[in-house]
Amino acid sequence: MQFPQKSFIGGTWRDGRSQAIVRSVDPARSDEVLVEARGASADDVNDAVAAAVSAYPSWRATPAPERARVLGRVAELARSRADELASAVTFEEGKTLPDARAEVEKAIEILSWFAGEGWRHTGRMLATDVPDTMAYTVREPLGVVGLITPWNVPFALPCWKIAPALVAGNTAVLKPATFAPGSALLVASLFEEAGLPAGVLSVLLGSGAEVGQAMAVHPDVKAFSFTGSPGAREKLYDLVSHRLARLDWIAPEAGGKNAIILLRDADLELAAAGILHGAFASTGQRCTAASRLIVEEAVADEMVERLTAGANALKVGAGHEPGVDMGPVIDGRQLQRLLDAVARANGDLVAGGRRKTEDGMSRGWFMAPTILDRVAPDAPIAREELFGPVLTVTRVSDFEEALRVANDSPHRLAGAIYTRDAERIMQFTQRADARMLHVNAPTIGGEPHQPYGGIRTAGVQGLAREGLDFFTEVKTVFVDWGGARRKQQTYY
Ligand code: NAD
Repeated sequence: MQFPQKSFIGGTWRDGRSQAIVRSVDPARSDEVLVEARGASADDVNDAVAAAVSAYPSWRATPAPERARVLGRVAELARSRADELASAVTFEEGKTLPDARAEVEKAIEILSWFAGEGWRHTGRMLATDVPDTMAYTVREPLGVVGLITPWNVPFALPCWKIAPALVAGNTAVLKPATFAPGSALLVASLFEEAGLPAGVLSVLLGSGAEVGQAMAVHPDVKAFSFTGSPGAREKLYDLVSHRLARLDWIAPEAGGKNAIILLRDADLELAAAGILHGAFASTGQRCTAASRLIVEEAVADEMVERLTAGANALKVGAGHEPGVDMGPVIDGRQLQRLLDAVARANGDLVAGGRRKTEDGMSRGWFMAPTILDRVAPDAPIAREELFGPVLTVTRVSDFEEALRVANDSPHRLAGAIYTRDAERIMQFTQRADARMLHVNAPTIGGEPHQPYGGIRTAGVQGLAREGLDFFTEVKTVFVDWGGARRKQQTYY
């Protein structure tokens, strides 16, 4: 599948007017260019926002079930092309084909679920102390919303912001990351084919510094949904916090440093499989990836042995090749950053820690699945988000220490425990300081109807009812149908 080579602005495909070129390549074969296009400029942002402003009244007035039908058609189109779309995701992000297929499937489910929500778009009927009066709430859209996405879930993440935003009646301008931006362009083309009116959605190629910031300071962008790194979030927050109606800040603690606690009574075979999957699926480039194992000393040697054997047995290669378990890292600089962090770390390197260049892998950015044992809980490598195939192992004496170490992290999005002890499970679910918990399963996973978000962030990331809540405001309405002057007054 070819990627579009232009931005989608106000219903037309056109070159941006920036001096900067957006160039994305296959991370498995970095000489293969997939998207090469002129980025959007601040003028293009103005055009996209102006188109969204002018499309807003009629899109807002479109009945929610009709808005839902557009999402439903996009879901159908995506389903009919799921294999090609998955292949496109693999080419530009590097994840394995089954992984990319699962991402496309997730996007279809998100679109379908939010299409259903269009039919259920509702408020609440409220009791009132005033006779002959009906009181109720409705949820109304916010206006033009700005959406900014990272590269690691390049097809589904745009969908999980666009779907709730549009079905609620907003119009949107989306900026995908400069790595792997082609999938978001494919999303735009599906919406165009599904008959979305011009201007309701624009997708702009370009950098965060140029396009993202121009969106952030634009006075007509009423709300912002951002997913990315803590650093970018800080910059954006400084620009927009004083003026936005709503903020959906996912990144501050959302960066992945998610911990799995392993207790001595756990099913070690099940746990080893889960930990390997949590740490190395999608090359560890998931916000929910498991990057810290906190293990009771009593079973640490045995588990490290199992994990080392498992990591060494993983087949690394281009995501399209059959039987490959782990694809490349997104980019050469990111690969070097990971290798440097591992080289600097204090700990016993028991697996990986090196670039892989054999069997044609020198064309891309491949890293061996890496495990560092005996890492101190306060070591930089156990605290900073690396976003790659690196697992640290910290040994602890008991459950209480494990919980303390797991909770003492700046990044707490997801957490997991492996144990058969019912009391410990309940203790964990109550005291673990993360927003998504898994018991006897790795840290990754989530469905469209389930909230998804990090701790101490102002919102959730667009999924579930909470996503619709984010993209709407509540209005309370009193209809006095009695025709008589109110005798009774409620205070205020
Ligand atoms: P990033 O922060 O570099 O970029 C994210 C997006 O923000 C991109 O579109 C980028 O162009 C834009 N951006 C960057 N600087 C900006 C600025 N100053 N103003 C406006 N926009 C700006 O992140 P990335 O490298 O694309 O993705 C990896 C990061 O995303 C990791 O930190 C990961 O944890 C995070 N992530 C979080 C979740 C979650 O659910 N919490 C999901 C996926 C990824």
